[in-house]
Amino acid sequence: MQILERFYWKKIKVWENIDENQWTNWKWQIANRLVDLSQIESVLKLSQEEKQAFKITGNIFHFGTTPYYVSLINDIADIQNPIRKQIIPAIEEVDENIQGFFSFDPFLEDKMSPVSGLTHRYPDRVLFRATNFCSVYCRHCMRKRMFLEEERARSKQEYETMFSYIRENKSIKEVIISGGDPLTLPNKKLEFILKNLYEIEHIDIIRIGSRELVVNPYRFFDEGLLELFDRYEKIWLITHFNHPDEITDITKKAVKNILSTGTPVLNQTVLLKGINDDEKVIENLMRDLLKVKIKPYYLFFCDPVKGVLHFRTELEKGVQILEYLRGRLSGLGIPVYAVDLDGGLGKVPVFPQYLLDKNENEAVFRNYENKIVKIKL
Ligand code: SF4
Repeated sequence: MQILERFYWKKIKVWENIDENQWTNWKWQIANRLVDLSQIESVLKLSQEEKQAFKITGNIFHFGTTPYYVSLINDIADIQNPIRKQIIPAIEEVDENIQGFFSFDPFLEDKMSPVSGLTHRYPDRVLFRATNFCSVYCRHCMRKRMFLEEERARSKQEYETMFSYIRENKSIKEVIISGGDPLTLPNKKLEFILKNLYEIEHIDIIRIGSRELVVNPYRFFDEGLLELFDRYEKIWLITHFNHPDEITDITKKAVKNILSTGTPVLNQTVLLKGINDDEKVIENLMRDLLKVKIKPYYLFFCDPVKGVLHFRTELEKGVQILEYLRGRLSGLGIPVYAVDLDGGLGKVPVFPQYLLDKNENEAVFRNYENKIVKIKL
């Protein structure tokens, strides 16, 4: 976890005159996003290869980051920095030898859409894509296909069509509001969505998938948003931290605000080559999440999405990490390692094997120290 000094942003020349009221305002963070090469070069020292990657990918995938998120990078010349690698384009994103055989939508989210913007895969859940705008465009995003479109929130009419479908389908118990990032929407628009979903009696859970806690935690100092969380009490917040450098003392205060509204906060991490595919990094991440009271939920094997494949690790890497965590870290901090299956066939958990043998009378286990233990049944 990073503990940030007061006025930490002022050490970056381009923001030395930004006052605290501006910097800590979530809308200022979004309005002052860095969205092109010259803007990011005013903050980071880019390599020739990175500059070339900007040119090659620029017309294909959006680039964008909040000032807050990029200010968390401590060494501006370190091309291996885990935050930098999540926002700066890489040539591999458009390398046909790596990405060529893969699809932008391997989980058929668009095909499984009964109405535009809504994906209905599992009987009891729908995915509600509220906007395709994000305040940071993560290079590993599994919805990278939306980077190809114009940035926009959906229209009121589109939302109405989505609500109607949910109202008519009583098997739906949970709505996952995602995007893009739904918490980049103004409170008024968000309230319109939340109110309509909240009033559907068969909806028990409104899950909001957002990265704002990672890239713009000042969003959760907005009284208006906290009031919505408090009022529409079916909300659960699922966030997406991938590295301990992303967790700060500001994250901790923001989580405290969210928890004060009765909203649980859980985290999904994606296993990313060169960013967090390391036992110790994931251990530290899970420990820091627990310290700020976020429950680790999933660790995902990187999805087979075109433009993202260069981040994929070996499948076994996630199992090795879970093996390492077991016995070292409280069960509270151990996420479920999962793989999303192509063709929209759902997620499957992948576990290390601890039950080695079993018959009518006994079962044989190995524990986290590889000790073999028999128990009577
Ligand atoms: S914030 Fe979420 S939806 Fe937006 S680019 Fe990042 S991973 Fe994708």
